[in-house]
This record gives sequence, C-alpha cells and structure tokens, in this order.
Amino acid sequence: MAAFSSTGASSEPVRVTIARGDGIGPEIMDATLRILEAAKVDLAYDEIEIGENVYLAGHSSGIKPADWDVLRRNPAFLKAPITTPVGKGYKSLNVSIRKTLGLYANVRPTVSLTPFVQGKANVDLICVRENEEDTYAGIEHQQTPEVVQCLKLVSRPGCERIVRYAFDYAVANNRKRVTAFHKANIMKITDGMFLDVAREIYAAEYDGMFKFDDIIVDIGTALLADTPEKFDVLVMPNLYGDIASDVIAQVVGSVGLGGSANIGETVSMFEAIHGSAPDIAGKKMANPSGLLLGAVQMLQHVGHPAEAAAIQNAWLKTIEDGIHTGDIYTEGTGYSKQLANTDEFTDAIIERL
Ligand code: NAD
Repeated sequence: MAAFSSTGASSEPVRVTIARGDGIGPEIMDATLRILEAAKVDLAYDEIEIGENVYLAGHSSGIKPADWDVLRRNPAFLKAPITTPVGKGYKSLNVSIRKTLGLYANVRPTVSLTPFVQGKANVDLICVRENEEDTYAGIEHQQTPEVVQCLKLVSRPGCERIVRYAFDYAVANNRKRVTAFHKANIMKITDGMFLDVAREIYAAEYDGMFKFDDIIVDIGTALLADTPEKFDVLVMPNLYGDIASDVIAQVVGSVGLGGSANIGETVSMFEAIHGSAPDIAGKKMANPSGLLLGAVQMLQHVGHPAEAAAIQNAWLKTIEDGIHTGDIYTEGTGYSKQLANTDEFTDAIIERL
C-alpha cells in the first residue's frame, strides 16, 4: 500500500537502510522487522553488511566503501549493534558513522515500567548527548612508549547545537526542566565552555520556558542511580551521556530496554543503546525492546506516528501482561508471568497489535 502525505497525494515509501550487525544483532533485527511488517508499516529497505565480518574481511573501517553511498542516500538507518574488535587498527564504526553522517544529537528516552517491571518508579526522562566531539573524536596519540594521549575536543558550534537541540526538545514536548551534566570544576576550558554556552543560550533565548540548572557529572550520575525520577531532560557531552544513559536504562529495568535516535541534518540513525551481547548471542535470549523502541523513534521521525504509537502500545501491553525476556524476568515477585525467548516475546507483541 502506498503512503499518503498530509496533502493526500500518494508518495513513495520512505527508504530505510538496515544492518543486522553482530552478536544478538541479527536476532533482534529479525524480531523488529517482523513487528514492523505485522504493523503494516510502509517502508522500503536497503540492507548493508557492517561489523566484525567486514572488519575481518580486510575493511578496517567495518564497512565496505560503496555502502557509504547507501547510508547517505536514505534518510533513516536502522542499525543493530556491532562488535568492535579490540586492538590496533580497528576504529569504532559507530563513532565513524556518527562523525561521517553528522549525527550530532543522540536522544535516549527512559520511562519507568513499574509496576510491571522491577525497577525505579516514576522515571520519564530524556538524555540528549552530544554525539560527535569530546574524547570520542578519536584523536589519540602515542607520545612516548610509556605515555599516551587522548584529546578532548569541544567546539562552541558543537555546544550550541546540542544545547539548542535539548532546549527545543523541552519546549516542543512541554518539559519542565533541563539539567546540564558537566565537569567544569576540573575541565574548566572544555566542559567550562559547554556550561557557559548552555547558560548563555538559556538566558538569551529560553529564559522562563522551562527551568534550567546544572550538576557535576559524578554526583549527577549518583543521583540518577538513586532518584532518577527527579530529572526531566538532560544534556551532556558525549562520554558522560554514554555512561549516564546506560545507568538510567539499567535502574528502570535493563539496558536491553533502551532505544536511541542519532539525529543529523539529512540522515538519522536509530539503534538500541546496548552492544552486541556476545555472551547470549545465538541463544534466542535477547530482549529486542531496545532496537524496537529505536525503530519507534524512527517511525516518528519519518512521518509514521500512528504506526509508531500502535507498536509502542502493543509492546507496552506485552510487558504489562508479564511476558518478559530473561533480562527483566523476576521469579516470585508478581511482576513476571511468562519467561519468553526472543521469538515468543516478538509473537506476543504481534498478537497485541
Ligand atoms: P553489551 O551491551 O553488549 O552487554 C552488556 C550486558 O548486557 C551483557 O551481559 C549482555 O548479555 C546484556 N545485554 C545487552 N543487551 C541485551 C539485550 N538486548 N537483552 C538481554 N541482555 C542484554 O556490552 P559489552 O558486552 O560491553 O559489549 C559487547 C560488544 O558490543 C563490544 O564489542 C562493544 O564494542 C559493542 N558495543 C556496540 C554498541 C553499538 O553497536 N551501538 C554499543 C555498545 C557496545
């Protein structure tokens, strides 16, 4: 069935690049695509291969050069996690994709699933993470045989862009508070600029639209683990955002529940926040929720909000009915009713669409 634009004119389906990745990647991608198909989402797919096999076949970037054209051509990329071989010569493909495609904002929502999943209650927060700079710019040097260096790169335009993204998000979604995480007490120039930019832009353009405050990242992360319900929208440099968003996902239940959007000007990428989980790969134990919720963010982004809502509701009903994968299954607590493998969990979502 063809998609229809708001003017009623027939339009071509949105083309999405997909990659199955490594470890549990193929299992959770299969689950996600089955649910998208059952929900009759009108998308067209171009599949590329990325990750370990591509690295080991001699492409040290983890992607074949021609596949960059596919990635640049399509507005959305649904990516399963990949394994980054540890050792020399292998640069993280995740970092390369974010840099090359200009995916400047990493948006990671976390919502409590209590009383259906054991975890912190009343959490509804969005972590907006700067996605191209900081220590993740990948600028590392061997100074001497015994001394190595990693540059923390922060630019004023990069700070302005991520701060504005978080502030605009807060306004558009009627959020009450934005908190900047930083370590400006120690990194006075780099994190200091990030904090100054946030304060300046708030005072000049957003004052009164929501509350803005800031917190030093170490106590901020401790409070996220303890009282995450007190936070609303968070904005932070790359490394802190990577760590803090895993902490939040785990305290509401599991890293397996977290999805994320990597937003760019022309292309955006959607993925789970977790990695390729080699310890459970091939065992049909993986929770596909992270990639599925990444796909839900993708559907909202490419103009399919009704399908996004239908899938999210069917997923939530499955969780509420106590059908849980191993990572969130709890025995004898009343939260969980059925221990489901990846396929059973996927079937249960499809039955509830
Ligand atoms: P991981 O996130 O893969 O796994 C951490 C723990 O969480 C493991 O015990 C795993 O079994 C569990 N887990 C993760 N996802 C789960 C799911 N969906 N369902 C159930 N349990 C789940 O982290 P790691 O082991 O540190 O990393 C493994 C590989 O993944 C590394 O090569 C790393 O570089 C890569 N990685 C990739 C991405 C990405 O592609 N975006 C992100 C992080 C890590």
